[in-house]
Amino acid sequence: MNLFDYTRPASVAEAVAAAAVPGAAYLAAGTNLLDLMKGGVVTPTHLVDVTRLPGLDRIEFLDDDGVRIGALVRNADLAHDARFARAYPAVAEALLSGASAQLRNAATTAGNLMQRTRCPYFYDPASPCNKRAPGAGCAATGGATRLHAVLGWSEHCIATHPSDLCVPLAALDAVVEVAGAAGTRDVALAEFHRLPGDAPEHETVLAPGELITAVRLPPAAAGFSAHARYLKVRDRTSYAFAVVSAAAALRLDGGRIGEARLALGGVALKPWRAHEAERLLAGQAPERAAFQAAADAALADAKPSGAANAFKIELARRILVRALTLAAAGTPDRVPALPGSPFASSFAPSPAGAAHG
Ligand code: SF4
Repeated sequence: MNLFDYTRPASVAEAVAAAAVPGAAYLAAGTNLLDLMKGGVVTPTHLVDVTRLPGLDRIEFLDDDGVRIGALVRNADLAHDARFARAYPAVAEALLSGASAQLRNAATTAGNLMQRTRCPYFYDPASPCNKRAPGAGCAATGGATRLHAVLGWSEHCIATHPSDLCVPLAALDAVVEVAGAAGTRDVALAEFHRLPGDAPEHETVLAPGELITAVRLPPAAAGFSAHARYLKVRDRTSYAFAVVSAAAALRLDGGRIGEARLALGGVALKPWRAHEAERLLAGQAPERAAFQAAADAALADAKPSGAANAFKIELARRILVRALTLAAAGTPDRVPALPGSPFASSFAPSPAGAAHG
């Protein structure tokens, strides 16, 4: 049995102070952390329970037309907030495609960002894993790599980040609000997760003891509401992580693409923003040839990390083209029963601005 201390602080300042202890971990819904502890994958010495911290469970629509999502807002509550879903339909769609209904009812916004890779070797303490034990080696390399990375990986780690939520958040320039012993700071979500390099044990840019307090979407993010989709390909219809996913958001001006936002999930150890593809789309007619060129650019640097995952590169190209096609057609009035199904054949475009949720 692993012994650990347990604290339930009453304020963010108290939480940060409590987490200054070496080996401390923040506990929110625990949908990932408790599984890791039960499996002996992680052994924190001190759990700092942040579930009762006041004020972190609110969705605040800001005067500048942005939105601030408290760290403890549950995934289901955010997805089903009608005003939020109307303004950020791809984010709602990503949330609804994640995990299961029970897990979405419990899991929090910050916890979604902080969840660990689902590399099966990471979850098996008998397998060497550089992320779990730096320098131990990587059992995935040469192993079962079907769900591993095709972008941004290194010889030290080829895992992927499992979040759906983070993919549209990265595309929409979300900002993570962080509190620590030195005060508060903002971190761009696109910079929040680290690629593995030679230190895959460092997964985010958080300093020890820093706590996520909120995620903000800037005012410009709502400007894509009429043409925004999240598509996810997975091995089961529900309760499965993405093999590949894509968030596509377009702002159309006079029949042409004024601005595009694109990000991929399931392909790297962080949500993968496709800046070059976005640049290529600007000014183009929203047509297949432009979408194909953008997808080619987005995957230009992709390479398999094992014998079993080369297919993900072509799959990612096709999912990007499909996501762009659906986004150009218009955000549907309602999220389909199966959110973001790449196999759905028809989607009713909304007349303007999409009533959704
Ligand atoms: Fe560990 Fe990363 Fe290798 Fe998986 S891919 S075994 S997480 S080092």
